[in-house]
Amino acid sequence: MTNPRDLIAEALRDATAPCLTSSFQAECVVLTHMLLAVRADIPVLFLDTCHHFAETLAYRDEMTRRWGLNLTTLRAAEPRVGLYQIESTDACCARHKVEPLFSALAGHDVWFTALRRDQSASRATLQEVEPFRLPDGQTIRRVSPLAAWTAKDVWAYARQHDIPLLPLYDRGYTSIGCEPCTSLPLDPSNPRSGRWAGQKLECGIHIQAK
Ligand code: SF4
Repeated sequence: MTNPRDLIAEALRDATAPCLTSSFQAECVVLTHMLLAVRADIPVLFLDTCHHFAETLAYRDEMTRRWGLNLTTLRAAEPRVGLYQIESTDACCARHKVEPLFSALAGHDVWFTALRRDQSASRATLQEVEPFRLPDGQTIRRVSPLAAWTAKDVWAYARQHDIPLLPLYDRGYTSIGCEPCTSLPLDPSNPRSGRWAGQKLECGIHIQAK
C-alpha cells in the first residue's frame, strides 16, 4: 500500500492536465484536502445530475467557497428530470453521469478518484493506479490514492483536519448519491446498500469502455 500523499505526488509529477471528480461525500472531500495541499488549482469535476439532495448542493457551494475550489459543474447535454422513472436508472445514469463525465475526462490525462476497495464488491480489485479507456479510444490514468483506506480512516482524517462533512451523514446515510436513488442503508453491514435500493452497484462512471 502506497501512502496516499506519495501516490499523489508521484501521479502529479508527470501529469499535464490532472483533475479530480467529487460527489462531495466524505472520501471525496478528504482526497480534495490532500490534493489542494500540492495543487491548489486542480480542477474539481462535479456532476450535476438534476437529482441531487438540496443539502449536497448547499454543502458543495459552502466547501467551494471555503476552500476556493476550481470547481467545474458538468451537466447532461439534454437533462431530463425523472428519467430514472420514465425509462430506467441505467438510461438516467448514462445521460446525467456517464456521458458528461467521459466527455470532460477526454481533456485530462490523470483522473483522481476517492474510490475505496472496501466500499463494494464491485470495487474489491481496484488498483491505486490503472489505465482507464474512454469511449473515444483515449486511455487516461485513473488514480485512487485512498484505495486501501477504510471508512474509519476517512473519518479519522476528516476529524484530525477539522473538515466538516455533508450533514446527511448525521441523518444515517452512509453512501450518498442522487436523492431518488439513495436511502438509508438496507443492510447495516453494507454502506452502499442504500444506493438504487440494492438493485445495482455502480452508475457506470467507473466502468471503462470496451
Ligand atoms: S443515480 Fe438515479 S437520479 Fe442519479 S443519474 Fe442515476 S438514475 Fe438518475
